[in-house]
Amino acid sequence: MNFNLTASKRQEITTTVIEALESSYQNPDELVVSKTLDEERITEMVNAFDFDQPHDTTQVIMHVIEGLKEHAVHSTHPSYFGLFNPRANFPSVMADVINSYLNPQLAAWSHSPYAVELERFVIKELGKKFGYKEQSIDGTFCTGGAESNLTAVLSALNKHFPEVADEGISGILKRPIIYCSTESHHSIEKAARVAGLGKSSVKAIAVENDLRMDMNVLQNQIKMDIGNGLYPLMIVGTAGTTGAGSIDNLEEILRISKEFGLWFHVDAAYGGAAILSELNEQFKGIENSDSITLDLHKWFSVPMATSLFLTSDTSILHNTFSVKTDYMPADGNQVQQIDSYIHSIQWSRRFIGLRIYLPLAAFGWDGYAKTISHQIEMGNKLRSLLEENGWVVKNQTELPIVCFTHPDLKGSKKAVEELVDKLVYSGETWLSTYPINGELTLRACITNYDTQEKDLINFTNLLSTNKNTIAEGICC
Ligand SMILES: *Cc1c(COP(=O)(O)O)cnc(C)c1O
Repeated sequence: MNFNLTASKRQEITTTVIEALESSYQNPDELVVSKTLDEERITEMVNAFDFDQPHDTTQVIMHVIEGLKEHAVHSTHPSYFGLFNPRANFPSVMADVINSYLNPQLAAWSHSPYAVELERFVIKELGKKFGYKEQSIDGTFCTGGAESNLTAVLSALNKHFPEVADEGISGILKRPIIYCSTESHHSIEKAARVAGLGKSSVKAIAVENDLRMDMNVLQNQIKMDIGNGLYPLMIVGTAGTTGAGSIDNLEEILRISKEFGLWFHVDAAYGGAAILSELNEQFKGIENSDSITLDLHKWFSVPMATSLFLTSDTSILHNTFSVKTDYMPADGNQVQQIDSYIHSIQWSRRFIGLRIYLPLAAFGWDGYAKTISHQIEMGNKLRSLLEENGWVVKNQTELPIVCFTHPDLKGSKKAVEELVDKLVYSGETWLSTYPINGELTLRACITNYDTQEKDLINFTNLLSTNKNTIAEGICC
């Protein structure tokens, strides 16, 4: 079997495939933002090729592209107002092509020294943007915020209980407690479970009306837990919550974590990008955090499975993840190098950092800052368009996440759900719902850097028309 295919076949595939991909990249209107589920058709498409005989590669690839175009929600479309999933910028798309062709292995420094050093360079540069001091920046690329947050929990645990590395958590006498807010992402709970601490080691602190963690409740809870013989381990402040985009009071969390000696982690998976914008003041305190989660596959607009765990503790990753083996390549001699496999959860690893290095080098900080500000501006624009049309914005954030409702919907959860379903099944847009202080609202987020004012006007019109037909049906 010729796994390479032939040069001329590869040429044919490249031309055909790139043309098909380019056509919807160039013109996203070709895609239905989100299509009504057709399970029969999906099954039929999945079963189109068996493995009992070989098939023409071009045909198989084109079939898969068609399946993806037909049966997926398209975050590449400017009328997608969804859950942080971006359109991938083009340099980052090329990163995946390069990675697959050359397939660098980043587990050991000596196998891909240029790639490992390039990642370290990006980690340092991003760390500096958050105000970390150059000599105290460390980190590792992760597959997503979930892995980054897990890395944070493991780091905090190993920092406070170094014996965990050998003895596991059963040797810990006091129960470690993690604090986050009720608006935090549930990957914190998952991380606690995976780390062996269990769900009940996570205390979700109540929020104030603005959906930021209530600092009094936090402080009292910590004191009470100490009194009850528990061991306060870490506080997770969220900088840009997933639901409503609120940014916790990081300075105050910093002060409390210092007072009680806790690890201070900032989950900035989505919102962290705004550090490059005019909103950077709202992140004050992050420069003195112990660690940060930053998803690049959200507001930095690179392909899926790209996140960064940053830490200002340069020995913690090594202390948490180092192991000794006889079979891994020996270290290079002259350079003070870091083998990624003893510095992170992963072992074999993809050159994830290239997905952010290329666009950063191509567009520069300024290019990114302008794009992020554009999205913030589109968020503001959407808020005012909605208000001009009688909608009421229910969340308080300057990030481009808007949670809103309309008096005509009379606070009815069912009406909101019906309206969102109607819009999503129209194929013209995608949005979600989120409860704000007990009331279900519609939630729209500017996740696509190509979303322009005309898309927002379209969206607002769609909302109003569909709302009117639903409002007619709501009874007194
Ligand atoms: C998206 C998100 C996560 C989870 O990140 P994944 O990349 O989906 O694993 C964690 N925290 C926050 C605040 C998020 O928005």
